[in-house]
Amino acid sequence: MNKKMILSSLPSVDEFLNNSLIKNLMKEVPRKVVIENIRHCIQNHRTKILTMKEKQVESYVIEHELLIQEIIKKSKSFLEMNLKEVINATGVVLHTNLGRALLSDSIKEEIWSVASGYSNLELNIHTGKRGSRYSHVVDIIKFLTGAEDALVVNNNAAAVMLVLSTVAKDKEIIVSRGQLVEIGGSFRVPDVMEQSGAKLVDVGTTNKTHLWDYEEAIGENTAALLKVHTSNYKILGFTEEVDLKDLINVGKRNNIPVIEDLGSGVLIDFKKYGLIHEPTVQESVALGTDIVTFSGDKLLGGPQAGIIVGNKEWIDKMKKNPLTRAFRIDKLTMAALEATLKLYLDEDEMINKIPTLRMLTETLESIEERAKELYNLLLDANIDINCKIKDDFSQVGGGSLPLEKLPTKVIAIQAKCMSAAKLEQKLRYNRVPIIARIQDEQLILDLRTIKNQQFNEIKEALTDIS
Ligand SMILES: *Cc1c(COP(=O)(O)O)cnc(C)c1O
Repeated sequence: MNKKMILSSLPSVDEFLNNSLIKNLMKEVPRKVVIENIRHCIQNHRTKILTMKEKQVESYVIEHELLIQEIIKKSKSFLEMNLKEVINATGVVLHTNLGRALLSDSIKEEIWSVASGYSNLELNIHTGKRGSRYSHVVDIIKFLTGAEDALVVNNNAAAVMLVLSTVAKDKEIIVSRGQLVEIGGSFRVPDVMEQSGAKLVDVGTTNKTHLWDYEEAIGENTAALLKVHTSNYKILGFTEEVDLKDLINVGKRNNIPVIEDLGSGVLIDFKKYGLIHEPTVQESVALGTDIVTFSGDKLLGGPQAGIIVGNKEWIDKMKKNPLTRAFRIDKLTMAALEATLKLYLDEDEMINKIPTLRMLTETLESIEERAKELYNLLLDANIDINCKIKDDFSQVGGGSLPLEKLPTKVIAIQAKCMSAAKLEQKLRYNRVPIIARIQDEQLILDLRTIKNQQFNEIKEALTDIS
């Protein structure tokens, strides 16, 4: 056989279309999707044959059955949702790759009614005139944070950009060298500043910045002092950072606004729940920070959004900045954000209903109880694995509370007939992908981020594998 002969033995599109299996397939999958996949299949094999060495070609046979199976598989998977729910067994609560904060089940109705129906997104019901999409959340944000005014954009990176562009375009911003951080997903403070048109003046050193460093750098071109909450790492040892309070005093004395990028939008005192205290938005506002920015989908536990709170005068200026239009949030986000913030009005409700807060504050006893439940389910299933309940630590993730180690219970699994790496991969390929980590040649399932409703899926996945 030579290449030409093999190429001519590849079936044509019409030949495939006449195959009974493909005809059956077209009862489930639209014809144009099937045809597209047939063409792809033919093209792939043509390319493969053309790049083969003559020697390989001699013994090469095209198996029509395999081609048909390939077309069926690809056509069916084309119809399935690519973006779908997975089971987070990593114990990382705010897992950036797995979509960060989970929305509360209790706000489904609020979101869906706005999404599937017309809404008063930009209509003032009282006057019948045009309203502002931001108005829906401004009052509750003011109530929860104590701020004078608020504005919401797409994410916190956009919030910082909008603030800097409004306050400091073509002017200077003073920031400590120890706070020129990179947050996951390529948000680098110096780069955002450059894009916003603000000129960065970094003061101090990596480990120490003093108040006089800021004072000395202030000149007639200084537009603001910026404090970035180094949310994803801590410098330990011989260090010094200027207190926000002192920074605000310097700002006031020099009539220069102070901006704080808090990163995570914490609205509750985590210390009350046995965690490390994380500076809250209210604290920053109460100290007199002129503008504070934070994320909607980190510790706040809402949808992806960037929230800006601060003096009305500044917020008004931001609203006029054309970037606000480019960064504007959509109605789905608005509905989810408003409904999440409403949960904050009742403390018990908030901890129980906001998944991020519930997972972070779940007691070890409760996690252990759930671990035993899953463990027993796995034992009953008679699966060919070794598993045991172990102590471990979960992480907050999402660049928040980097030093917090949350004691947890995990189920450590060893399959008798495959490596931990293979088991990890098989679970990842499950119908509902199960994302777990490996430690000491064992697969670790951290109960903190696994919902009870997911236990059965895990059992079934493991049963199918063994
Ligand atoms: C996470 C973070 C950001 C970026 O927020 P996004 O909502 O992810 O855009 C900016 N600044 C700090 C300090 C952060 O921690």
